[in-house]
Amino acid sequence: MERYDRQVRFAGFGESGQEKLSNTAIMVMGAGALGTHAAELLTRMGAGKLIVIDMDIVELTNLHRQTLYTEEDVRLMKPKVEALKEKLQQINNDVEIKTLNTELNSQNIVGILQEHQPDIVIDAMDHFEIRFLVNEACHKLDIPWVYGAAVGSKGSVYAIDYEGPCLKCLMATMPATGESCEINGVLPPVTTQTAGLEVSEVIRFLSGEGFSRKLITVDTFGMNYKTMNINALKDDDCIVCGQHKYEHLEKETFRPVQSNCGRVFTLRFDDSIFNAEMNGEVIKENRFVKFINYDGYEMTLFNDGRMNVYGLDGMEEAEALYREITEGLPVNQHQ
Ligand SMILES: [Zn+2]
Repeated sequence: MERYDRQVRFAGFGESGQEKLSNTAIMVMGAGALGTHAAELLTRMGAGKLIVIDMDIVELTNLHRQTLYTEEDVRLMKPKVEALKEKLQQINNDVEIKTLNTELNSQNIVGILQEHQPDIVIDAMDHFEIRFLVNEACHKLDIPWVYGAAVGSKGSVYAIDYEGPCLKCLMATMPATGESCEINGVLPPVTTQTAGLEVSEVIRFLSGEGFSRKLITVDTFGMNYKTMNINALKDDDCIVCGQHKYEHLEKETFRPVQSNCGRVFTLRFDDSIFNAEMNGEVIKENRFVKFINYDGYEMTLFNDGRMNVYGLDGMEEAEALYREITEGLPVNQHQ
């Protein structure tokens, strides 16, 4: 097809790579900076199907690094996956775009993968723990996936087919520092570079070249790019890829009160809270989300029962607020 002429001319990809790409279903987990970049590239390149999962709405602080989102999306409080799908379809209507406006957790990740059957998964998530779930779920179902993370000026990418080390094998060398964009900030170019490298691994895989089997790190401010062969880190006794035990999948990930970074807490209620009478003033709402002012707290309530509360001073205050809201509801709502 003419629109793909320039990439087909690249010998390593060619017509067979294009053919493969157009018959491939790729799941993009997360529609933030990495997810929007990766989804845009794959849509432009003519992927057969993209399945994009995210649970957030577009916010003003996203726009500097998350491509395709607009101020209008912020004003309308659009779920990221909805806003992204609209833009992607304008770019390439031949690509089938499936979106899931939902949270990924230990209870649903295997079911979602089984239902949508991606050929490959791109990790575009913004916190580390979830990647252990992806590692276990993809190993269980034998799906290759590409790990990607970007914080500050640094990004890292590693594609996993379980022949080499898996994410768990690598743990000793992975930064488990709890760094996040909210706390440490992030420079937009590193998200572009990281997502680009993730898509490059997908292209290598589809064109028959296979994953690079390298841990790739990039520093967009220090201007460093490094690749490391890490085959030696394969751990034959690895609990996941050696022993096929899935500890994270078996763990309950839902906690009714959860601390996020930057004084933000997530409280979880049954989804019926969304339409229940509750105290507080609704400032703005649509069918996906409500902004509420409750006793001086700012809250975002999602239609799945998640509530992000801003400006809390600690877990004690968050738990007290959770109890207060639960007691004020018609029936006992907590999960
Ligand atoms: Zn392993």
